[in-house]
Amino acid sequence: MPIMSSDDFTVHDDDCDEVGDGMPISDLPDEVTSIDDLECQCWNEYDEIAEI
Ligand SMILES: [Zn+2]
Repeated sequence: MPIMSSDDFTVHDDDCDEVGDGMPISDLPDEVTSIDDLECQCWNEYDEIAEI
C-alpha cells in the first residue's frame, strides 16, 4: 500500500526507509500518472504503475 509522507506529501512504498511518518493511502494521487512521477528509489522494483 502506498504511503504519503506527512512532511512533503511525496508518495512511497510501504516499506520505504525514506518516508518516516506518513499516512497510508489506498490510491495514488491523480497527478501520478506514470512510474516516473514517483521520484523515490523505493519504487524501483516496480516496472509500471499498474503493479503498485
Ligand atoms: Zn520512498
